[in-house]
Amino acid sequence: MIPLSNVYLGGNEFQYVNDCLARSWISGTGDYVTRFEAALGEQIGMEHVIATANGTLALELALKGLGVGAGDEVIVPALTFAAPAAAVCNVGAKPVFVDVHQRSWTIDPLQVVVTERTKALIAVDALGHPADYWMLREVMGDVPIIQDAAEAHGALFCGQPVGAQGDVSIFSFHANKGISTGEGGAVLTERDDLAEKMRVIHNHGMTPGQPYWHEVVGSNYRMSNLHAAIGLGQVERWDLLVDARRIIAKFYDALLPVMMGRRPACVWATPSTWLYCICLNNRFERDLVLGNLQAAGIDARALWRPLPEMPPYRDGREYPCARAISDGVLLLPTWAGMTVEQVQTVVNVIVGERVA
Ligand SMILES: *Cc1c(COP(=O)(O)O)cnc(C)c1O
Repeated sequence: MIPLSNVYLGGNEFQYVNDCLARSWISGTGDYVTRFEAALGEQIGMEHVIATANGTLALELALKGLGVGAGDEVIVPALTFAAPAAAVCNVGAKPVFVDVHQRSWTIDPLQVVVTERTKALIAVDALGHPADYWMLREVMGDVPIIQDAAEAHGALFCGQPVGAQGDVSIFSFHANKGISTGEGGAVLTERDDLAEKMRVIHNHGMTPGQPYWHEVVGSNYRMSNLHAAIGLGQVERWDLLVDARRIIAKFYDALLPVMMGRRPACVWATPSTWLYCICLNNRFERDLVLGNLQAAGIDARALWRPLPEMPPYRDGREYPCARAISDGVLLLPTWAGMTVEQVQTVVNVIVGERVA
């Protein structure tokens, strides 16, 4: 049995969690949340960081901070994990889908149409590859960009850490992501006004320094100290954890046949590895290989289907690039600490099928 992913807890995580318990820091109040936020800000080079209970709520907080609500539209890529589109719906706005580009697998700036109802765009750094932020900035003008870097811890955009390109950026720290707190997320921004607004919304809409005084409607988006303690232990080993996944990608690259399709990368990108993926020629071939992997007890996955094909998001439009990528791509088991023997086992099943 080879799982899709696994966490690698090899640093101070145990010590920090025990310290939390010893000090009764089990809620959102305590030093570890503050230390985790500071460490993450330092790592990405962003002024303000607010830790959240998960990545999906981080997206909601970013949208609310930007004042997005009922009647507004937010542009979202047609090919992504569902969280960005769901977050838009959950704040009462409408997702407007745009196809991805075949070279980057991220939202295609040249297909973006901004109207007066467009209140934001969510760019997803899909599978560790940053979106085209220079072009997106050109196209969006003053309309804010939310960067969803949930799958791209450690990637670079033109040499700058991913997570620093959006007006607001978010990370997920779910257990299967590159850096983890178990469940968790964060919003990051350089804008003081936005940070202040989001801090208030994130803590029940309570005015800082005035307990139980509410100027705005808020909610509870907080991360607990127990999760932040795990996260601090992980952020301290950021480069090691990012490199460990890159090494797994190198194993796959070396062991898979040269003619097998790999994820493309654009010149502005230094991608990170979240889940290593291969590109088969069509859905038939993809499902055949997937079936063999599953039969061998290997938890590989077909890539997400285009979101506009799902019941809540149907819009009757075609997204040819999203469809083509979705049909051919297979996500393979990847985690920091995976052994070369495990990679070889996965490759053997893939290759065996293609030779037969
Ligand atoms: C995982 C993921 C999220 C959501 O993160 P959770 O912490 O699981 O809520 C958001 N966006 C993208 C692109 C993701 O891959």
